[in-house]
Amino acid sequence: MITSEEFLERLRRMRPNCYMHGELIKRDDPRMLVSMKDILMTYDLAQDPKYDGFITATSHISGKKINRWNHIHQSVEDLLLKQKITREFSHMSGTCIQRCMGCDMMNALSVVTKEADEQNNGKTEYYARFLNFLKEWQDKDMIGAAAQTDVKGDRLLRPHEQADPDLYLRVVDRKPGGIIVRGCKVHTTVGQYCDELIVTPCRSLTPEEKDWAVCFSIPADTKGVKLLVEAANPTPRKAFPAEVAKHGIGHTTTIFDDVFVPYERVFLDGETRLGGRAALLFALYHRHSYTGCKPAYTDILMGTTALIAEVSGIEREQHVRHKLAQMISVAELVNAAGIAAAYTSTKASSGTQIPDVVFCNVGRKHAGENIYHEYDILCDICGGQPQTMPYEEEYANPEFRPYLDKYFARKKDVPPETIHRAFRLAQDLLAGPLTSNMQIAGVHGGGSPIMEDIAILGTYDIEEKKNIARRLAGIPEVDPKAKKRK
Ligand code: SF4
Repeated sequence: MITSEEFLERLRRMRPNCYMHGELIKRDDPRMLVSMKDILMTYDLAQDPKYDGFITATSHISGKKINRWNHIHQSVEDLLLKQKITREFSHMSGTCIQRCMGCDMMNALSVVTKEADEQNNGKTEYYARFLNFLKEWQDKDMIGAAAQTDVKGDRLLRPHEQADPDLYLRVVDRKPGGIIVRGCKVHTTVGQYCDELIVTPCRSLTPEEKDWAVCFSIPADTKGVKLLVEAANPTPRKAFPAEVAKHGIGHTTTIFDDVFVPYERVFLDGETRLGGRAALLFALYHRHSYTGCKPAYTDILMGTTALIAEVSGIEREQHVRHKLAQMISVAELVNAAGIAAAYTSTKASSGTQIPDVVFCNVGRKHAGENIYHEYDILCDICGGQPQTMPYEEEYANPEFRPYLDKYFARKKDVPPETIHRAFRLAQDLLAGPLTSNMQIAGVHGGGSPIMEDIAILGTYDIEEKKNIARRLAGIPEVDPKAKKRK
């Protein structure tokens, strides 16, 4: 395992290809350092003996100690620990860890590369290539971005039907040593401060879509890759520093302008059925990760709501208690779905543990449907103060501080600075530069809500439920297998 400083050194050596506000920026640009703070913490905490075996794991291929975010889940316990570190770590930073992206991609690839070789009766070597890459990945303690979501063009047309075939990333040429790819991926979290861009399709594919059925990984500074940066960073604090103001999140629009990918880094090429499976598996692993971070974010909104109620003297009021109970229900049901998904997980032929599809997706769906409601609750209890309160500089100014301490006082015996800090946190959550990011990611992150419905309905046995109804109604039951054969 490496330190956060060693990781930064590696970023500094990369070819500059990140563009922001009209400039070609460095990967250790001060704005990037705020966005990547969580990534740096994943290195720092892994060095802390207190987290040994929790944030670290033992590699199943080398037997070495590795960062758990670089681990391929081998057991129910691995899935449970991954969910647990995601919830606990999110509490420490107050935002998105970002490192789950590469972890979830690698777990998905560990399953599909093996299945592809089996399907091809050993004529392909995708799994051997993947294992070589995994070894390097774990030894170098790398960060991966999940470059999955294509720009998609006309939403009613399939990849091969688009007026411009590059609207879904595809192979445009095949050379003796590798392939040439062209396209654009969006919403690429950590794109500007990762080692590798790990690419899979974003949807199911038909047999004529072989050129779009491609999975690979390349260094993020490879020739032809252009990263257009977006950074959601919190409002900086000077007078009243707080942890919440130190952590941002970054994404890129990721352009592949005829990029060469050597065959040793190509993990699927032309396998249309498994290209779609890779897309679904990444989403599945990421939704399981969500069952850790989404309850954590509810915990943060819930804790802030309770704190604001406490400093305002209304914590025992029935309406406040009712709202807190609603938030507890969301957090713990989503968490419970993740635990259930781990306990009902199955083993892939590669040995990788796969969480249950229905539990992961119902958990993620419940979190997504409630995210704006949770903001609504915090906003309701806070009143308008988070939006209109004076800037930090006025609180720090000795001329105004006595006025603000006097007039913004709430419950007797609560120090004015505690009240100020609680509302400043509420401001960061409700009206700060990260707010819209957390809200939109709360709905769309890891796949939009419709994809959750598709996954649930594609897996769940509705026919069995209809037979329950038929039995109760006195209607003859139908054999689901016979129905499928029709
Ligand atoms: Fe991890 Fe959650 Fe962030 Fe995804 S949204 S990277 S699961 S913390």
